[in-house]
Amino acid sequence: MNSHFMEFPRAILVGDRIIVNIGEFIAKLCGTRKVLIVSDEFIRSQYGGRVENSLKTCNIKYYWNIIKTADFSNVKETIEEIVKENVDGVIGMGGGTCIDVAKLSSYKSSKPFISLPTNAAHDGIASPFASIKDSGKPYSIVSSSPLGLLADIQIISSAPQKYIRSGCGDLIAKVTAVKDWQLSKEETDEYYGEYAANLALLSAEVILKNSKKIGSNLVTSTRDVVEALISAGVAAGIAGSSRPCSGSEHLFSHALDILAPGKGLHGEKCGIGTILMAKLHNLDWEEIKSALENIGAPTYLPSLGITKEQAVEALLLAPKLRDRFTILNKVKLSEEDAIQLIESTSIA
Ligand code: ZN
Repeated sequence: MNSHFMEFPRAILVGDRIIVNIGEFIAKLCGTRKVLIVSDEFIRSQYGGRVENSLKTCNIKYYWNIIKTADFSNVKETIEEIVKENVDGVIGMGGGTCIDVAKLSSYKSSKPFISLPTNAAHDGIASPFASIKDSGKPYSIVSSSPLGLLADIQIISSAPQKYIRSGCGDLIAKVTAVKDWQLSKEETDEYYGEYAANLALLSAEVILKNSKKIGSNLVTSTRDVVEALISAGVAAGIAGSSRPCSGSEHLFSHALDILAPGKGLHGEKCGIGTILMAKLHNLDWEEIKSALENIGAPTYLPSLGITKEQAVEALLLAPKLRDRFTILNKVKLSEEDAIQLIESTSIA
């Protein structure tokens, strides 16, 4: 039997107004004395003061690295900062961009990484994978799981609501991701882990089952969504790959990243992709669509500024993006099939 590596966060702190405990959390977890905080200008202006005070109280020196995008040049620059300031830990504070750059830079520098998300838009807050762009093309890169994760629910629930809706889309995506994984096991004899698959599915089911409740009060549902996202990251840790969390619906979202850059959030596009791939898998795609509607997540690509033509092109491009067997490799959509699929599900 082939071996595979499992990795998980060691400590997770979830609660209201706990950002002021970041210093203590890090000191206990890894004894860090000097950290680099990777963040963006807005998040620093909002929460930087509280983080600085907490670090000062615990005698932890800090440096800021302010970034705008998650690309390889920012990763390189962050690694240079890590070396220059000789820090012994890296905090990623903000949304996906800050988390991803901090995660990959700390991994490449063999330094502990602390995840401090300020929104819950996708499962990268706890997963061992970083999504980095290279000349506009997104790459999912194997890094390390965060050593620690501090999720301040009060901060995450005060982020614009489209983020948490996007997080729900990224969770619902596990339904088709797991189906694709099972299909690949049957068709290509790829390793398939029943436990990791079921854990990922559970995080989707919690959202599907409670979609009305979540949609009616996103603020009180924040904690459940954050915990489901953490659990999905753990499922990827057990699988030793992003397989249980990312299938054809993610490939569709990545294709849209290339064809319609900057339009829609990752989880929003994955949610719509799940409707399409569920139909191809002969699952109840209407149930998935109405759950997204209940949550208030988009189910119509033009509402994100993406055209029907781009959606058709994305369906045809998706299976070429990476060597990962999914339903798209099995059904081999023609352009006409792709148009028909999009029209029958009314997603564009
Ligand atoms: Zn995702």
